[in-house]
Amino acid sequence: MKTMTKPRDRLRIAVQKSGRLSESSQDLLGRCGLKFRQSRDKLFCFGESMPIDLLLVRDDDIPGLIAQGVCELGIVGRNVSAEQVLEGGPGSVAPFAELRELGFGRCRLSIAVPQEEAYEGPQNLAGRRIATSYPNLLRDYLSQNGVEADIVVLNGSVEIAPRLGTADLICDLVSSGATLIANQLREVVSIMDSQAVLIGAPQDYADERTELRELLLRRIDGVIRVRETKLVLLQVSRAQLGAVLAALPKGDPPSVSRLEAPADTLSVQAICHEAINWQHMEDLKRAGATQLVVLPVEKMLA
Ligand code: ATP
Ligand code: ZN
Repeated sequence: MKTMTKPRDRLRIAVQKSGRLSESSQDLLGRCGLKFRQSRDKLFCFGESMPIDLLLVRDDDIPGLIAQGVCELGIVGRNVSAEQVLEGGPGSVAPFAELRELGFGRCRLSIAVPQEEAYEGPQNLAGRRIATSYPNLLRDYLSQNGVEADIVVLNGSVEIAPRLGTADLICDLVSSGATLIANQLREVVSIMDSQAVLIGAPQDYADERTELRELLLRRIDGVIRVRETKLVLLQVSRAQLGAVLAALPKGDPPSVSRLEAPADTLSVQAICHEAINWQHMEDLKRAGATQLVVLPVEKMLA
C-alpha cells in the first residue's frame, strides 16, 4: 500500500510508548541532541531543539505507521520488523528498510520445550503444536528445515501455553532465560538474534525530511561509535611497550610519552573503539601495563 503524503518540513519518529525499548530509544535520541515537549495525552512529543517529533505507540504498530507514511522513522526490535516484512508474503517489497542496528534490546527468538522433554533436532518439532507471537518467523524456520508443525498464534503469555495445554512447545523471545526456567521450559534452539533497529521508509522526500533524516543518521552513527569508545591510560616500561601495544583493543594510533620518573617508564594514551572487558585488562596487565585506567568518552569530533 502506498499513501501519498503532503510535503512536510518536520520528521516524525515512532518509538515504543512503554516497554523494554522505550527508555533506551528516548535516551539515544536525547544523545543526538533532540529535546521534546510531551503533549498532555503523552502520545506525541514536539521536538523543541530540532524539527523532529516523536510518536509514542505500541511497538507492533511502528512498521505500519511507516508503511502508511505517518512517520518517516521508527525504533523496533528486529523481531517485530522481520515478522512484518514476512507478512507481505514471498517476493513482496518491504515498505520500510532497516537503516541502523542500535545495540540495545538484545534478545533471541527461541524454541523451548518442557524441561523433561528430549530434543535432538528440528525433526522433533514435526506435528507438534507450537505457541508463538511470531508465526511468520516460525513458519519460515520450519519450512527451511522441512518440518510441518501446528502454529498456535498467541499475543501474550506464550510461556504458559504448555502448562495450559494449548500448545506443546513455544517459540518466544528470550534474553536471560529466567522466564523460561520459571515456567519449567528449556531453550533448545535459537531461530533468530534480535536487537533494536532503526527502520525507515526507503525513499527520499522532495522536502526537508531527507536532509533531516541524513543529519539524524549521522548523529546516531556518532553516538553509537562513542558508546563503545574508551580512553585507555596506562604506564609501561620501554622494554614491554611493544607487547602492551599489541594487546590494546582496536583503536586510533596511541600516543606514547616519557614520564619524569621512574626513568624508562612510558605513559600510553589510546582511544579504543571496542568494548573493553576484564579479559582485555588482564591481557594488558600480563603484557606489562601498570596504572591501567579505562575512561568513557562522552563526545568525539575527529
Ligand atoms: P507493546 O505494548 O509496545 O506492544 P510488548 O509487550 O510487545 O510491548 P516489550 O516486552 O516491551 O514489548 O518488548 C519490546 C521489545 O524488546 C521486543 O520486541 C524485543 O525486541 C525486545 N526484548 C529484549 N529482551 C526481551 C525479552 N526478554 N523478552 C521480550 N522482548 C525482549
Ligand atoms: Zn508489542
